[in-house]
Amino acid sequence: MNINTLCIHGSNVYHNDTGAISVPIFQNATFAHPGVGQSTGYDYSRIQNPTREHLEETIAQLEHGNEGIAFSSGMAAVTALFELFKSGDHIITSDDLYGGSHRLFNSISSNHGLQFTAVNTSDTAAVKGAVTPLTKAIFIETPTNPMMKVTDIKAISKIAKACDLLLLVDNTFLTPYYLNPLELGADVVIHSGTKYLSGHNDTLAGFLVTKNKALSERLRFIYGTTGACLSPFDSWLVLRGIKTLAVRMDRQQQNALELSKWLSHHTRIKKVFYVGLPDHPDYALSKKQARGFGAMVSFKVDCPQTAVKVLERVSLILYAESLGGVESLITYPMLQTHADVPENIRESLGIDNCLLRLSVGLEDINDLIADLDQALK
Ligand SMILES: *Cc1c(COP(=O)(O)O)cnc(C)c1O
Repeated sequence: MNINTLCIHGSNVYHNDTGAISVPIFQNATFAHPGVGQSTGYDYSRIQNPTREHLEETIAQLEHGNEGIAFSSGMAAVTALFELFKSGDHIITSDDLYGGSHRLFNSISSNHGLQFTAVNTSDTAAVKGAVTPLTKAIFIETPTNPMMKVTDIKAISKIAKACDLLLLVDNTFLTPYYLNPLELGADVVIHSGTKYLSGHNDTLAGFLVTKNKALSERLRFIYGTTGACLSPFDSWLVLRGIKTLAVRMDRQQQNALELSKWLSHHTRIKKVFYVGLPDHPDYALSKKQARGFGAMVSFKVDCPQTAVKVLERVSLILYAESLGGVESLITYPMLQTHADVPENIRESLGIDNCLLRLSVGLEDINDLIADLDQALK
């Protein structure tokens, strides 16, 4: 089934005799048993709930996996994933990571004895060089946030396979509409479902998707035991969001490309980071491994005063954290998403007081350009 159709109908495996087109919201904590030692397949909603199960099957199909697990947020998903590791284990991560993942690894997981090495995962040799006898996994985001560097998933998966490591890929930015990391050798795909999958800036959600049965079972066990599960109503909201994923991604990407081109020619803009611009250093690699470039754009303005001015003056574009929704949002990574990254690391990555990040939404492109134009005057 084509992905356009899968987004809409893939989830329609729910069988009911009411003819309901939308999956019912099973607002239940618990389920009655038909007899001793019997189950309807549902016992308690922490373990499974029909609405959530439906969503999980949908995301598993979209990612070409065989198991999808729906969490109450993206960070809940990453936290559960890291329960796979124990004290002394070493994990290699992208150096340019979502701030929340950076905070989890360096302020919580490290207290439990996990060790992390951050490298530029676009540099395959650097990843290989960072592997030690204690290394258990490689965690990557592609494109990275906010610097939009692309990692060659296939190349990294070769290193992971050769060294018996798990390859964990955060696919929040591209979504399964544009990229299927499991097809390129990843072991686990992570999503913040809060972003493009729900798509309306109205709900938090997270996912882990796997293909390997033993790994799926371990993660399911962690999930059912620790309990950061997605509620039935939020599961329904994400299902509804996914129905329009394909059309939203297409249009948001088109807007992002036009806006990037416009920004590239503006005198106050020093540099635009958008993977879909043919002069982006990873354009060719991205074309090879993904079906699209997404709709996240970062750019550097001429001075910090301009950055502050833009944030204060935009009116249609909202100054808010998060991304991937129908509304365009702008953030100041240095002060917001990446505030906890040590200054020297931040500066070396290029996350400075002139860098802004834009999640391009579904508004009319001319209105978006007009808003930025007046903000930059
Ligand atoms: C937002 C985000 C997360 C965390 O997800 P939440 O739903 O906010 O907990 C993880 N990774 C990336 C790339 C994100 O953008």
